[in-house]
Amino acid sequence: MLKESYQLLINGKHVDASSGEFFETYNPATGEVLAKVAKATREDVDQAVAAARAAFEGGKWPRMTGAKRARILNNIAELMRKNFDELVRIEVLNSGKTVSAAKGQIGQAIEDFELYAAAAITLGGETKPVPNGFFNYTVKEPVGVCGQIIPWNYPLMMAAWKIAPALAAGCTVVLKPASLTPITALILADLCHKAGVPEGVINVVTGSGSEIGPYITEHPGIDKVAFTGETETGKDIMARAAKTVKRVTLELGGKSPNIVFDDCDIEAAVDGSLYGIFYNTGQSCEARSRLFVHEKIYDEFMSRFLEKAARLRVGDPFAEGVHVGAVISEGQVKVIDSYVRLAVEEGAEILYGGKRPEGPEFERGFWYMPTIIGNVRNDMRVAQEEIFGPVVVVMKFRDEDEVIRLANDTIYGLGSAVWTKDHAKAHRVAAAIRAGIVMVNCPISAFPGTPFGGYKQSGFGRELALETLDLYTETKSVLSYIGSRPLNLFGI
Ligand code: NAP
Ligand code: MG
Repeated sequence: MLKESYQLLINGKHVDASSGEFFETYNPATGEVLAKVAKATREDVDQAVAAARAAFEGGKWPRMTGAKRARILNNIAELMRKNFDELVRIEVLNSGKTVSAAKGQIGQAIEDFELYAAAAITLGGETKPVPNGFFNYTVKEPVGVCGQIIPWNYPLMMAAWKIAPALAAGCTVVLKPASLTPITALILADLCHKAGVPEGVINVVTGSGSEIGPYITEHPGIDKVAFTGETETGKDIMARAAKTVKRVTLELGGKSPNIVFDDCDIEAAVDGSLYGIFYNTGQSCEARSRLFVHEKIYDEFMSRFLEKAARLRVGDPFAEGVHVGAVISEGQVKVIDSYVRLAVEEGAEILYGGKRPEGPEFERGFWYMPTIIGNVRNDMRVAQEEIFGPVVVVMKFRDEDEVIRLANDTIYGLGSAVWTKDHAKAHRVAAAIRAGIVMVNCPISAFPGTPFGGYKQSGFGRELALETLDLYTETKSVLSYIGSRPLNLFGI
């Protein structure tokens, strides 16, 4: 399934970019070129939008019954299952993540299609109470052509989070994958066509976000933009989308707190805190990158945390038993390292890692060691800014009020975690935290069906849940008069 070169997908056809240009995409674990990919221009975006518009205005997809759309969504899931091993292999090759991480994410992506298949059948309106003689019903109609822009950290899963609810609602799509990881989204779009999605419903334009991204977000032919990525990019998108009053969903960055109380199961908290930050090489929007440990158990917790961190295996993402794969790019390694240097300048202390791993295995590709930084204050830049790599900052706290204040002292509000055996406390803290997701005694942030999204500058709108369909539909209210006497409201 891996090819040497990939074209754009417009109106069901693979086509070169109008400029004929390509860009290269890499294997982060080796630094080698993996494939070349068509570099879309504005003209290509216009073509893709025109195809999506035509499929929306006159095509079958928005007019199909929910049951038929559901069958096709289930076909997509089925085809993904059939191609599972190859999808996992290509995802690992293009992202540098471990096989087990890719398996989990692609497994979830498949279930996302199944979730929205079920939802497509039930999607409908309501009748509302109105005065005698009137009858009102609401209809859920697809919002239209959706521009969907996704990041590199979960390439296929993010594509599924975007495409599946849009399809279920009857929308059509212009998808722009991240330039660092465009391949599996292109393959998924092919599988969608094989599964029965009509041409023009899903179009994929690969290319530079800074060049075609703003064109997509301003495009008058697009009704809604769904974006996942950095908060700074999200702000630009929101401003541009305002010009045509597009519907907008933003899933942005985070700096999620992980709160370990003195009455927790320490072993479980150590394991969960390691997983919460170092899973996916720390490149998760909801990575629990600020670790708050109660002062009473700080020494014991930290000695176990550091001991287990030293047991994490970094390396070849295809190798058995590796926990931490490659970093996405050399640029990202430099960003991570500069934050670690900054932490030291700010007076923090590197307790583990803080450098590239050494050895012949790491001579090629992009790597950084799992890194634990102590002696941190929450107002340091390293505790306030998203690093997006395998770096956790650790802070001590005294009591519940203090830790809630510190946890909320951030511009972000995506994930959070609480470790305690006291359930009353767990849910008191869950209520006090200003974040879209709270994990209690576990490091798993979501399953298909649970809402995923942020408060504050982590964005707005929820994905992965049934309520996501509200963001891909408009509600139409139809109000009819069914009384027996004609209405004569002016009385003339
Ligand atoms: P990014 O730099 O914002 O890029 C995301 C996507 O936007 C890419 O496809 C990019 O294209 C495109 N893009 C860049 N500039 C654009 C512009 N001006 N207008 C429109 N599109 C533009 O984010 P990233 O570095 O790929 O991803 C990491 C970020 O995603 C982190 O901040 C992370 O927290 C966030 N994230 C959030 C969630 C969530 O659910 N909240 C989930 C995953 C990741 P190119 O690739 O061509 O530059
Ligand atoms: Mg970026």
